Amino acid sequence: MDALEVEDLVMHFGPVRAVDGITLRIREGTVVALVGESGSGKSTVGRCIVRLLEPTGGTVRLAGADITRLDRRRLRPHRRNVSIVFQDPAGSLDPRLSVGDIVGEPLRLQKKARKEVPEKVAEALRRVGLRPEVAHRAPHELSGGQRQRVSIARALISEPRLLVADEPTSALDVSVQAAVLNLLADLQRDLGFACLFITHDLSAVEYLADEVAVMYLGQLVEQGPRRRIFGSPAHPYTQALLSAAPVPDPAEQRARRPVLLGDDLPSAIDPPPGCRFHTRCPVAVETCRTVVPEPRTIGEGGHQVACHLVNDDGTGPDVRLTQGVAR
Ligand code: SF4
Repeated sequence: MDALEVEDLVMHFGPVRAVDGITLRIREGTVVALVGESGSGKSTVGRCIVRLLEPTGGTVRLAGADITRLDRRRLRPHRRNVSIVFQDPAGSLDPRLSVGDIVGEPLRLQKKARKEVPEKVAEALRRVGLRPEVAHRAPHELSGGQRQRVSIARALISEPRLLVADEPTSALDVSVQAAVLNLLADLQRDLGFACLFITHDLSAVEYLADEVAVMYLGQLVEQGPRRRIFGSPAHPYTQALLSAAPVPDPAEQRARRPVLLGDDLPSAIDPPPGCRFHTRCPVAVETCRTVVPEPRTIGEGGHQVACHLVNDDGTGPDVRLTQGVAR
């Protein structure tokens, strides 16, 4: 059984088509990275999955159970199956509560015996590399990195099958980002939860994810195993994103010529017709302006792409050969 199945998910905010038909699966114990520019709708997908938002359309199944339209009462038993860690730990931790109360809150909501809670909180804090005494402190007494560790402890205390990690390191000081990422990777391996890792940091994706889903203006344009996406990206947008991602080797980095996509992301109120990427795509042809490309499987491991110019064997245009500047 999959930890998460999202089918044709739609989330509109009035005229804004933030998410427009996303289909995505996460197998038990695996990490799927959802990547794309800011404004692509990826955080909205995360919020729909944990039901902080009620989707306009489509279905969300957690461990086989359709939770898309459950009311609060009927949702409660499923809540423990999924947790979320937000980008900004300062904003997501209640400043009036102690760290112990924050981390233990999911257990109290599940009506766990009071006696059990302090011990479980201490264990959860230890697991994220904090001393149990931190339970008595207030969130503002901690550093940004420590606060994010507290968020992770709270998210994992109820042993969810799925963790949604929404840009979990991007609000942190660069010096602590790697430590928090390592922690997440270790916890995922040790505890075996599935994870939707929402990020624009492609180097973190390469390190953490089993699969990658690339989102552009409310839709998925490519998804598949990480090695295939990084090794032979098929969609022009994925190729452009990867060309701009830093690589560890300084010589390789100097030799890189990122594909510049020119204009900003178009508005989600009135997305371009046909392929939504056509206004920025360096290789767009006439068909792209009018005909919507449907996702097609182009290789093993469920590698899918939505682009008219990619062949069934995955070959096609490479925008990295267009000498760098699109339009
Ligand atoms: Fe570019 Fe056309 Fe492919 Fe869209 S369908 S990515 S515009 S080539």
